[in-house]
Amino acid sequence: MRKAVRVGKVIIGGGSPVSIQSMTNTPTVDVEKTVQQIVELQMAGCEIVRLAIPDFESAKALKQIKEKVSIPLVADIHFDHRLAIESIKNGADKIRINPGNIGAKWKVQEVARVASEYKVPIRVGSNSGSIPKEFEKYERSVALAEAALREVRYLEEVGFENIVVSAKSTDVLETIKANEYIASKVDYPIHLGVTEAGTYEMAVIKSSIALGYLLLKGIGDTIRVSIAGDPVKEVVVAKKLLIALGLRKGGQVIACPTCARAEIDVEEIAKKIEPLVEKTNLTVAVMGCVVNGIGEGKHADIGVAGTKSGVVIFRKGEILKTVSHTDLEKELMELLNSVMNEKT
Ligand code: SF4
Repeated sequence: MRKAVRVGKVIIGGGSPVSIQSMTNTPTVDVEKTVQQIVELQMAGCEIVRLAIPDFESAKALKQIKEKVSIPLVADIHFDHRLAIESIKNGADKIRINPGNIGAKWKVQEVARVASEYKVPIRVGSNSGSIPKEFEKYERSVALAEAALREVRYLEEVGFENIVVSAKSTDVLETIKANEYIASKVDYPIHLGVTEAGTYEMAVIKSSIALGYLLLKGIGDTIRVSIAGDPVKEVVVAKKLLIALGLRKGGQVIACPTCARAEIDVEEIAKKIEPLVEKTNLTVAVMGCVVNGIGEGKHADIGVAGTKSGVVIFRKGEILKTVSHTDLEKELMELLNSVMNEKT
């Protein structure tokens, strides 16, 4: 089992559930906007939020932000180690430093001394876009991993072991290989992510393959799905990814792809009920017809299947009733609520 690292109220590693992270994209100095986005992220299911700290004003803003939110905050530091120290003093629950640009060993160790005093963990996070030159002789995934591991050794030299490690590439296979390499060398918890994964669809595909593969192999203690745009989407995808992998409980809608036999608008119904189902631990099947629908949806807690004259509602494969298309939504919501009440 990997070591456990405490980030505010969240434990990373040590057998704890895989936690979900995201990052704000508001200017950190704009306290009001940043707090608003953090609250949105938290409501979507985010458990740890990272903020960019590009200057001392941002490090100072961290203090005001921290007073207004209840979620652990991570200060993301590049280039200037003094920003890491300032962020720790202003209440950061964790620091992320990039081995590719933080500079000399003494700077890293200086950050470690302050982090140690404040009991704040450090994530050493290497990125494929900023691998230090001296590692270029290695194959890229090894270079990415070794860049992070060198920084880990710098921290260990001063007795600092409150460490999380990450190695992120824009490339799926590089991300996988780099993290397998790190997992074989150290037992610190691992933060997983594909960096600069792209816009929505490609980002979801790349993250699902890399993170899914690694998590199924037992590698990874906290994740960030990186998507260009609204970070709330990152959290929604991360949650669904963990549910799909069976690493987290949660409601889900299964829906047939439809074909010429479909008697109902499967997509419309599925999308309508999804927000409610996601608040439960139920699986709800929406199937276009009764020909295959009831059989294929029998593992679901609740299911619906279209017929020529109406919609059949079934539970664990047993038909409960047939309702008209117009009554479907109301009937389904009533059944969902009553099944939820039974289970609580
Ligand atoms: Fe087609 Fe019916 Fe299967 Fe949906 S459940 S794909 S409509 S056969």
